Amino acid sequence: AQGYHKVVQENRNLYNMVQDLKGNIRVYCRIRPAFRSDTKNVIDYIGEDGSLVVLDPSKPNKDGKKLFQFNRVFGPTATQEEVFGDTQPLIRSVMDGYNVCIFAYGQTGSGKTHTMCGPVGASRKEMGINYLALNDLFDLSNSRKDVLKYEIFVQMVEIYNEQVRDLLTTDSTSSNKLEIRSCTSENGLSLPDATIHPVKSTTDVLNLMKTGQVNRAVSSTALNNQSSRSHSILTVHVHGKDVNGGTIRSCLHLVDLAGSERVDKSEVTGEGLKEAQHINKSLSCLGDVITALSQKNSYIPYRNSKLTLLLQNSLGGNAKTLMFAHVSPEGDSFGETVSTLKFAQRASTVELGAARLNKESREVMDLKEQIESLKKQLAEKD
Ligand code: ADP
Ligand code: MG
Repeated sequence: AQGYHKVVQENRNLYNMVQDLKGNIRVYCRIRPAFRSDTKNVIDYIGEDGSLVVLDPSKPNKDGKKLFQFNRVFGPTATQEEVFGDTQPLIRSVMDGYNVCIFAYGQTGSGKTHTMCGPVGASRKEMGINYLALNDLFDLSNSRKDVLKYEIFVQMVEIYNEQVRDLLTTDSTSSNKLEIRSCTSENGLSLPDATIHPVKSTTDVLNLMKTGQVNRAVSSTALNNQSSRSHSILTVHVHGKDVNGGTIRSCLHLVDLAGSERVDKSEVTGEGLKEAQHINKSLSCLGDVITALSQKNSYIPYRNSKLTLLLQNSLGGNAKTLMFAHVSPEGDSFGETVSTLKFAQRASTVELGAARLNKESREVMDLKEQIESLKKQLAEKD
C-alpha cells in the first residue's frame, strides 16, 4: 500500500508539472466537513491523484456516480497548513516576478472564506491563505535581502452590485466607487484610486485585515448578508530591486468570490433582485470568459463585468492562476455541488500559455532609456 501511495503521489506531481508547463489554470477542490447528519453525504471517493466521485442521493446506484478530475482534492480533514503547503510554490513565484491569481469559488457556506481568511477570530494556526501568503512573502524577502530589496504593498476592495469599493480606506465620506483601468501600463495599477498600503510585518497585515473586515461588516448589516453577495479582492503588489538595479514588479490577487448559488429570481424583489442579477451577471461573465479562453476564441468578453475586467491580466495569459472549487458534502446541496464541479472542470481545461516574468535586467532598462531619449531627440528635430 505504501508503494501504491508513492506512485499515485508521483503521478499527481507529474500531472501538475505538465499542466504548469502548458500553463493551465490549476484547480484544487476542497470539501468542507459535513455539519448535518440528516442528509446523505454525496462524497463517494477522493483520489490522491486528484479524482473525485460524487453520488447523486436520489440515484444511489451506479447511475448516480459522477467522476471529476482536478489537480488535487482536499477532503474534509485537510488542514489550513496542508492547503497552504500546496499553494506556497505558486505564491512564492510572485517574488520571482510572476503575476499570480488565486480565487475561491463555490456556493455560500461551502468554505471559501475559511480557505482565504480562516474562521472568524482565527488563531494564527487557523489563518487562511491571505495571511499565510503574506507571512511567507515576508520570510522570503528577508532570506533574499542580501541580493534583492523588496517592497510589499496591499490593496483590498470589494465588488458589490457592479461597484468597486475600497475596503481599506478610513475616509468614510469618500463615495468609494472606484474605476478600474483595464489597460494598465506594464507596471501600473488597475485600481489607481484605491488606497495602497505598504506592509512590513504580519502585524501590519493583521491590522489592515481588521480594517477590511470592519468596512465589510458595516455594509453587510445595512444590506443583508452582503458578504456572500460580494467579491472581495486582496491584491499584493511586489516591487523588487536587485543589486545590479534590475527590477521586479508583480502582483498577487487573492479573491473570495460571491456565492455561486443560483438565486431564485421569483422569490426576490427590489434590492435583492438587483443584487441577484448583478451576482449572476459577474459570475456568469467569469464563466463566459473561462469558456472563451478554453475554446481559444479570439474575442474574450472581459469587459462585460467589473470582476473579469479587474482580473483580465490574471485570467488571460501571462499570469499563473489557481482556482479553489469549494463544495459542501450534504445531499441537499448536490445540485449546487455538481454545478460547481462542472464549472471547475471547465476551468481546468483553460490553457493560459506560459506565464510571463515581470522582470527587467539593468541592461534592458538601460536600453529602454536610450531608446526613449533617442525618440525624444528625434521628436525635437521634427
Ligand atoms: P463561504 O465563505 O463559502 O460562504 P465559510 O467559509 O463562511 O463559507 O464556511 C461556512 C462555515 O463552515 C463556517 O462556519 C466555516 O468556519 C466552516 N468551514 C468551512 N470550511 C471548513 C473546513 N475546511 N473545516 C472546518 N470548518 C469549515
Ligand atoms: Mg464567505
